[in-house]
Amino acid sequence: MNEPGCEWTPPAQNANRAVMRRKTCCYYKHGRRSERTVALTFDDGPNPPRTEQILAILRDAGVKATFFVMGKWAERFPDTVRRMVAEGHLVGNHGYGGERQLGDADEAEAVIGHITGQPCHYLRAHCFNYAAFFNAEVTRLATSYVVDADVSGDDWKFEYNGWPVTTADEVVRNVLESPDLGPGSIIVLHDGSESSEACRRLLRPLPTIAALPRIIAGLRERGLEPVRVDQMHLDEPLEWKG
Ligand SMILES: [Zn+2]
Repeated sequence: MNEPGCEWTPPAQNANRAVMRRKTCCYYKHGRRSERTVALTFDDGPNPPRTEQILAILRDAGVKATFFVMGKWAERFPDTVRRMVAEGHLVGNHGYGGERQLGDADEAEAVIGHITGQPCHYLRAHCFNYAAFFNAEVTRLATSYVVDADVSGDDWKFEYNGWPVTTADEVVRNVLESPDLGPGSIIVLHDGSESSEACRRLLRPLPTIAALPRIIAGLRERGLEPVRVDQMHLDEPLEWKG
C-alpha cells in the first residue's frame, strides 16, 4: 500500500490497539518529500576499522548518520557502537545474526540496548526479512519505526574471493544518479557485512568509504542535507503483506 494520505499518527496522541497493530505492519522508505533532507544509513556494522573510517569522514563533513548495527557485531565491537553514539549518530537495530528466525531482532535489541543504555526505536530488517521482523516484540512497541530505503548504493555484492563488485565510482553514481533520489530519500550503504569471514567484512566497505565524501558533496550540491532518520519526518508508510 502506498497511499499519500496514509499517514502515521504519533502514538502519544493515539495510543490505542488499532493504531499499534497498524504500525507493526508498516515500514517507511522515505521521509517527507517537501523537506530537503536525506538520510545516510549504514548497515551490517559495527566493523572496525572500517566504521571508524566512515565516522571520520562524517565528522569532517559535519554529517550525522544512522547505523543499523547487527547484534553479533555490536557484542564483539561495543566500543565502535559507543563511538557512534558519542559522535552524535543514531544507532538502529538490524537484527542479531541475520538469521531468518523469530527472536533475532529482540536479541539484537537486548545487546545494543545494553551498550547504548537506550532502546533503538529505529529498526531495519536484515535481508528485508519482514516476516521475522514484524513478529518481534521490539517492533510491537509504539515507539518503534521500521525503516527501509528508497536509494541504494548497491555496495553489498561480493566476488567469490570477497572483493567488492561495485567500484567507488559506481557507488557514487548509484546514489547521486538514482531516479528516486530527492528530498526525503533514505540512502542505504554498508559499513560492514554479515559474513563471518573477516576479509569480507574488511574489503566490502572500501568502495563505500572512497565514495562517501563525493556522495555527501553531491547531495549538498543538489540542496539535500544529510540528517539522521529520527531528524526527518518519515512519510507514506508501506504495509507489509506477507
Ligand atoms: Zn544487512
